[in-house]
Amino acid sequence: MNAAVLHAVGDLRYEKVPMPTVHEGEVLMKVMAAGVCGSDIPRVFEKGTYHFPTIPGHEFAGLIVDGDPELVGKRAAVFPLLPCRKCASCEVGEYANCKNYDYYGSRRAGGFAEYIAVDKRNLVITPDDLSYACASLCEPGAVGRAAIRRLGVELGDLCVIWGAGPIGLIAAQWARRAGAACVRVVDISAEKLAFAKKFGFEPYDPEKDGPCDCALEGTGAAPALCDAISALKAHGRIVLMGNPARDMTIKQSVYSQLLRKELSLRGTWNSSYNQTVNDWSATIAAMASGEIKYEELITHRFPLSECNRALDMMHERREFYTKVTFIMGE
Ligand SMILES: [Zn+2]
Ligand SMILES: [Zn+2]
Repeated sequence: MNAAVLHAVGDLRYEKVPMPTVHEGEVLMKVMAAGVCGSDIPRVFEKGTYHFPTIPGHEFAGLIVDGDPELVGKRAAVFPLLPCRKCASCEVGEYANCKNYDYYGSRRAGGFAEYIAVDKRNLVITPDDLSYACASLCEPGAVGRAAIRRLGVELGDLCVIWGAGPIGLIAAQWARRAGAACVRVVDISAEKLAFAKKFGFEPYDPEKDGPCDCALEGTGAAPALCDAISALKAHGRIVLMGNPARDMTIKQSVYSQLLRKELSLRGTWNSSYNQTVNDWSATIAAMASGEIKYEELITHRFPLSECNRALDMMHERREFYTKVTFIMGE
């Protein structure tokens, strides 16, 4: 089969590789759509993966073609985290906090391939009429939903999202659905702000909009965090979602506001995927009902054979993009 294989930092090749071996408890999936995550850019161009060669891609969906007669012919998205199922976090089903996990697309082969063997427990079956491109957005979709759930958006809230990338715009839609009276976005990119307007989100204007009830920090940049803390009302809530690229320095005057305004601050990581709390099934339901726009986030579609063109475009920011998706089948 063909796959995009990362051989070393900056060395991604579209090439022939052996078909994956399907082990007990797994099915063979024909990958139909795979999104490029923002985190794939540093993974491919700077940091590398845990070992080489690796097939990246942790946001994918496809058709089950072998391994279990009951599942063959069904479509599915894939929860990319393979938990140890032994540690304290796994015992309560909070797999994102697992101490010893495996991961499709970073620690083991992912979805930038024609086929992948997937653990049945990680399959999220999707309706036949939901496009694969849409289903491949389930991972960022679930991350955005988890963030808003943790933020505890309430009826009538003014909610502000820092970072208007794909997850920010998904989170903004979940905040609106949770009953926020007003959802605003902040971004340093004018193009991203213009794109956000298509989803009905205006830029946050502290003068006009006033202080906010809750904030989602999705950039991982210290100035954004400081602005968010300053924008919150007394007793406001902030959730930190953005991965920091470097040390985060907070000015003393801003730090003091955390205390004086008695703010609640919490982090969010990945998404929940268990019997009680499942951001994945909720995301699929919102996709199927059309309540939340996902596919509209895709600005670029490429065949997998053009993986280098796609990733270079993103790395060098040659064009404005929100979501870049490899389409292998409809
Ligand atoms: Zn991702
Ligand atoms: Zn575990």
